[in-house]
Amino acid sequence: MIIKIYPIQTGRVKIKRSQIKRAANNLPQPLNLFFQTGWSDWLPILAWVIEHPEGVFVVDTGETAQAARPGYFPHWHPYYRWAVQFDVRPEDEIGPQLRRLGMSPVDVTAVLLTHLHTDHAGGLSHFPRTRVVVHPQEWQAAAGRAGTLNGYVRHNWPVGLKPEFVRYVPEAVGPFVESMPVTPDGRIRLIPTPGHTPYHLSVLVQTETTTYFLAGDASYTEALMLAGQPDGVSGPAAMQTLTHIRRWVQDTANPKRLRAVTYLPSHDPHSLTRLERVQRQPAPQLATW
Ligand SMILES: [Zn+2]
Repeated sequence: MIIKIYPIQTGRVKIKRSQIKRAANNLPQPLNLFFQTGWSDWLPILAWVIEHPEGVFVVDTGETAQAARPGYFPHWHPYYRWAVQFDVRPEDEIGPQLRRLGMSPVDVTAVLLTHLHTDHAGGLSHFPRTRVVVHPQEWQAAAGRAGTLNGYVRHNWPVGLKPEFVRYVPEAVGPFVESMPVTPDGRIRLIPTPGHTPYHLSVLVQTETTTYFLAGDASYTEALMLAGQPDGVSGPAAMQTLTHIRRWVQDTANPKRLRAVTYLPSHDPHSLTRLERVQRQPAPQLATW
């Protein structure tokens, strides 16, 4: 059985440094985002393609090139006005990039969304007839006026989009007590990683040589996850999520659970090199849960 992962970088984003790492002051977090002046470097906006014997699965859809045009985001929204910059060209979008890989959006069995922020759901327009899997409460959070106020941008999504909702079952993955198998063999699995949004999820892909942890925005980088540093927009669940991830990634105490985990957040500048390294030299280990 061959399972393969392909990265797709749909352009770049700049955010405030206080969004990546919570500022050490007592100001309410939104104020730090708007009034602190320090910008991050350009960060990748990553989505992933999983080639599995049962189909092709896409994890997140990246951003649309429209995001770089004035007027795409609501001009009145302080986050889009003051706290984020995008650099996305039409050829960076996920549709053209899938075609460059010799695939087409219609070949995709399902789109799995870690959450619905614009740089993860902005490419949904390329999948008007594809199964889209999202957590029901994340879907609800993005809806209506409250969703718009919270920065969810829906106007580029396929008209009448009706996603399939995640339903976790009590199948534990290390410290994560529930999960949802996406494929009957259970090698692609969704796990709850709340924090960045209250119903944020991550996607695990178990191959012969490693378990890919497609982390979305569970942390902006692997280093911040290992340091237990929540980002500047996370809610209270983030700390426990980071602890769970770290414990699972680092646990080598049980020899029956030889673990080789490749942790891949969506905006980590090192995600691509980490993926290349593990694909170049597959370790003869079987990651199990
Ligand atoms: Zn996000």
